[in-house]
Amino acid sequence: MAEVKKCKTKDCKRPYRAKGYCNVHYKLWRQGELGKGRYKTCSQESCKKPMGKRGLCEAHYEAWLKSRKTAVAVAEAAPAAS
Ligand SMILES: [Zn+2]
Ligand SMILES: [Zn+2]
Repeated sequence: MAEVKKCKTKDCKRPYRAKGYCNVHYKLWRQGELGKGRYKTCSQESCKKPMGKRGLCEAHYEAWLKSRKTAVAVAEAAPAAS
């Protein structure tokens, strides 16, 4: 395997240590100083925006809220509908 692991911190050229980081950034990661300990991005696939509420970015959270409201409204308007 020719794959060379590198620190995933942008512009960091230190050798790989663990958890995707070099020894310096791994320590910081352990201390919760890199994005509060974990990379937090929107849980929607292909969305790289920072995570906001409920594991979603702001845009996807808004969309989720809307779809949820719609679902509730539909359920309340026609509880017997299948
Ligand atoms: Zn690093
Ligand atoms: Zn998103």
